[in-house]
Amino acid sequence: MHKGRSRQSRERHARLNSVRNRFPIANSRHTSEHTMRIAIASGKGGAGKTSVAASLDRVWPTAHIMADTDVEAPNLHIFLKPDIAASTTIALPIPVQFDASCTGCSSCHDICHYGAIAKFGTKLKIFPDMCHACGGCFAVCETDSLVQGEREIGQLHSGTLDAATPWLSGATRIGEVMTPPLIRALFKRLSVLEEEMAAQTGQKPEVLLDSPPGVSCPAVTVGSHADAIIMVVDSSPFGLHDFRLAHQAFGRLNRPLACVLNRAGIPGNAQGDETVRSYCTKHNLPLLAELPFELEAAAAYSTGKLLADISPAWKERFTKLAEDIRELFGRQACAR
Ligand code: SF4
Ligand code: SF4
Repeated sequence: MHKGRSRQSRERHARLNSVRNRFPIANSRHTSEHTMRIAIASGKGGAGKTSVAASLDRVWPTAHIMADTDVEAPNLHIFLKPDIAASTTIALPIPVQFDASCTGCSSCHDICHYGAIAKFGTKLKIFPDMCHACGGCFAVCETDSLVQGEREIGQLHSGTLDAATPWLSGATRIGEVMTPPLIRALFKRLSVLEEEMAAQTGQKPEVLLDSPPGVSCPAVTVGSHADAIIMVVDSSPFGLHDFRLAHQAFGRLNRPLACVLNRAGIPGNAQGDETVRSYCTKHNLPLLAELPFELEAAAAYSTGKLLADISPAWKERFTKLAEDIRELFGRQACAR
């Protein structure tokens, strides 16, 4: 007998227990001493991860940090409207020219795997935009003839939401292709913020990360800095294909994974929804929520309104999802 618990609460705990029993506990950086970072990811753009992340922020029951790590196309600020207090330029150290002591030995050209130091006859030329800042050319130059400069890769922004929740985001410089260094700079800043918040409140904060879409370097870099990953799934044929890719990519990171099926019940796509459910069952992926397709929700989203603000029913869906995420991943963290 579960005195004091509602039937829904008992059902929810039973469901989560069944999920926990099926779900392998993966290694991650998280222990009860650490902050819990939850990445909201997706295999493709347009699956709804930003919308889910924004609504989770709205209902998240504890002190947390909100971060938009989709530095190539940040858009979480459109929904959450942070007050930005500071912006910092992030730059990479790169070679910008040869000084007069250069002997023309070509060692810097030979070691550069990225074609950033090209050779035309006996002449060497630096292409700064192609440099990956590996430092190899500086290391091999015996005469210290390379002059070091910087290439701006983007900006980090920090501030607050509703004057209470710390906010962090990044945006790459237009034309810049090197996003992982900016993401790593963002996580370095995040670690400092986590420590500051822990010192102020006496508690390690939880962190919600709006991830880059897809499964390329930026998404995997964010996933590798998270403790758990929620994959927002679109059950259209393209969505299913990319969901499987995302599962393969994030599965290799050895982080706990769970799914949210977005826009469930689109007319004519019952088969797609069912495929997501059976895939999750087959691969022991907890399917924590099915957010229904509703025209009202789509219309609200197109005007920048949060799903959690549409109606009490939508708020309840996200409240329950937040509870389930914290319960599922929090318990797993305690078990580690
Ligand atoms: S390694 Fe140094 S000395 Fe040799 S070509 Fe490059 S800059 Fe000049
Ligand atoms: S720092 Fe690395 S990538 Fe950049 S020019 Fe030197 S060797 Fe090439």
